[in-house]
Amino acid sequence: MKTLYAAVLIGSISACALSTAVAQTAAPAADPALSIYRETTPKYNDLVHTKLDVRFDYKKRFMYGKEWVTLKPHFYPTDSLRLDAQGMDIKNVSIVKAGKNTPLKFTYDSLTINIQLDRTYRNNENYTVYIDYTSKPNLLKAQGSAAITDAKGLYFINPDGTEKDKPTQIWTQGETQSSSAWFPTIDKPNQKTTDEIIMTVPAKYVTLSNGRLASQKVNGDGTRTDTWKQELPHSPYLFMMAVGDFKIVKDTWKGKEVSYYLEPKYAPYARDIFGFTPEVIDFYSKTLGVDYPWNKYSQIVVRDYVSGAMENTSATLHGEYVQATKRELIDAYYSQGRSTIVHELFHQWFGDYVTAESWSNLTVNESFADFSETLWAEHKYGKDAGDAHINDDRENYLSQPNLKAKDLVRFHYKDKEEVFDAVTYQKGGSILYMMRNYLGNAAFYKGLNIYLKTNAFKNGEAHQLRLAMEEASGRDMNWFFNQWYFGAGHPILNITYKWDDATKTQTVYMNQTQDGNAFILPIAIDVYAGGKMDRKKFWIRNKVDSLVFHSAVKPSLVNVDGDKMLLVKKTDSKSIDEFTFQYFNAPLYLDRSEAITAAVKQQSNAGARKVVIAALNDKYYELQIKAIRDADMTNDDVRNAAQPILIKLAQTDPNTLVRAAAITVLGKLKASGNTNLFKDALKSQSYAVQGAALTALSLLNPADALTLAKSFENDSEDALTQAILNVYATSGSDAQYDYVYKAFTAGQPQTQFGIMKKFADFTGRVKSNEQALKGTNAMIDFGMKYKKYGVAPQVAGILAGLKTDRAKLNDTATVAAIDKATIELNKTE
Ligand SMILES: [Zn+2]
Repeated sequence: MKTLYAAVLIGSISACALSTAVAQTAAPAADPALSIYRETTPKYNDLVHTKLDVRFDYKKRFMYGKEWVTLKPHFYPTDSLRLDAQGMDIKNVSIVKAGKNTPLKFTYDSLTINIQLDRTYRNNENYTVYIDYTSKPNLLKAQGSAAITDAKGLYFINPDGTEKDKPTQIWTQGETQSSSAWFPTIDKPNQKTTDEIIMTVPAKYVTLSNGRLASQKVNGDGTRTDTWKQELPHSPYLFMMAVGDFKIVKDTWKGKEVSYYLEPKYAPYARDIFGFTPEVIDFYSKTLGVDYPWNKYSQIVVRDYVSGAMENTSATLHGEYVQATKRELIDAYYSQGRSTIVHELFHQWFGDYVTAESWSNLTVNESFADFSETLWAEHKYGKDAGDAHINDDRENYLSQPNLKAKDLVRFHYKDKEEVFDAVTYQKGGSILYMMRNYLGNAAFYKGLNIYLKTNAFKNGEAHQLRLAMEEASGRDMNWFFNQWYFGAGHPILNITYKWDDATKTQTVYMNQTQDGNAFILPIAIDVYAGGKMDRKKFWIRNKVDSLVFHSAVKPSLVNVDGDKMLLVKKTDSKSIDEFTFQYFNAPLYLDRSEAITAAVKQQSNAGARKVVIAALNDKYYELQIKAIRDADMTNDDVRNAAQPILIKLAQTDPNTLVRAAAITVLGKLKASGNTNLFKDALKSQSYAVQGAALTALSLLNPADALTLAKSFENDSEDALTQAILNVYATSGSDAQYDYVYKAFTAGQPQTQFGIMKKFADFTGRVKSNEQALKGTNAMIDFGMKYKKYGVAPQVAGILAGLKTDRAKLNDTATVAAIDKATIELNKTE
């Protein structure tokens, strides 16, 4: 699963952490919930097959279900069965024998059905229980206990058709344990079952579920009955259904259907969005030595999804953020959110084919899916792209100090949702990257192959991964798993150097300053001296370690962690001369990135300036952008050298984000000589380039920019829309207010968050009180809707500024609305 959270709203689709808010306010150390050992759920009965026959009541938001669930005792004979079933009406529970139903005794407390079977069964006997029930997901909170949160499992979107511009849809979300809100089951990841889902829906709609569409039957009453069969076992949380008006675009991989379900408006771009899927299936199949295991692979995009995306077996569900037109995709480089598509696909092996046996072991699902994003980046876009991706992971984890006490395999947590954090995702992905570096690619992938084949259609935990890696490599891996999987934190490494010219001796001191034990770290140290590079392999085993060696001449650079694979917070006391040497001689993304970071801080130094200027043309675009943004254009030497390069980049760089960044920096110079360059850039197909150009022009001539902005109103998205909004917010009149209002209300949450300040500025000075109130209410709605993701303080701050502006205009209605909303936004739940 990929989840949305505040950081997404604040601007980057980085991976998950289901609830940063939950993690950061996590229980105090003494919380009794944390002392509970979260064991793997015992198995008394095993699911074997689940057959569902369902109809939907759009008006009541109910689902009427009939279920035939086949089970068998796991080992010990038993005469009873417990099923999870959240907030349902249970009308009948019977044992099915020779096609005949005989009612069984049961009790139900709105969470669990306790069933007395007709006799004792042994583990070589299957039995089938029939249940007639009504699922009422929208009443869950009212009916359930504290254990039921707002995880409804089954979602009715715009079921009455009252919301204009929003389609009517039904979709489900099972992870973590919400499938039992729409069918009684043993809702635990260590259960696996085949399934058959028979859905009766309005005939105008399309359906999607796991497995194959076995039959479709048009009924006389305007409905159609679709039967889906998933003939390979999978866990209940991976079950899915979707119903709505979707257009299906089909590709294939090795004869298997690869399909994309999109709203009709986005169907023309289905291949632009998802068309690389067969290529990724092929790459992962080959890398893992296990062909894609399911009969088909579908991806569907739905409205109002509660998370980022979900890897339901053979039927991944995405939130709207993945939708885009061909033109929007021009600026959608891999690191700008496209990696979710490969993340969910990799789960079809790590998660669906072999499933984490408990939420404590979620790492064997999510760390792999996270790591797979880097795998695809390396394969498709080159080593720099892969290195950049994994380094973003490391920095994401390291930037959250509250996570350093959390084990990757987490046997103690307050709520299972907490395990979906940057330890399980980004830190786990970084740990796999280190493991691959230590074992070598071939042994690592062989280990993955052994893990998958040994545990196919079953469950896995971290120990099974360790055993597979040991089998593949012939090396003991306990030391690695003990510190990274069953331990917490990371090394904090202080690196210092000493050269003794008299003895021609170089010493490298490596000092681990974190609390607790030393980490064992096998690393490469690259020594650049006399025009040659010499790699030394070294194991750091102690809190204070040093490496001493002779060198005929003083090394130009001693590069610790030559492969740049360590998950470590480090302070490296290199001089600017050494960093300059590093930029031009050490090969990796992070070598260059570290050098640029050091160089931009001291641009009065000639060597540093050389790095900054050279980096404007770095071979990796994200490093170019870093240098473009941080080049000190107030420094005459930098500006004189950079300006001609920036002009060239602005005009011709193949990467639209580099062009846009160059235009942005040139725009701030307010040089009228660049007017034509900006006007030419406005003709680009890239919204990023156009947006940067419009903003640049608005700094030179606001009146011209206002006229230009109007001409782009009807053909604008993303960065261009934001630039138009900026122009209007700064110099527009009431006539432009409605455009800004519509752009705000129709925007994706990330866009809304990004433009809210400008929208509020404009709202603050608009003449019509009626318009101002309408806009204010839209901002309040946003704040309330996404309060759970932590946006309330920012929204309240923006509203406070707006209140001051409207008060000056005596707009009492808007002021009152803000006062009322501020109380609501500040309430803690
Ligand atoms: Zn995931």
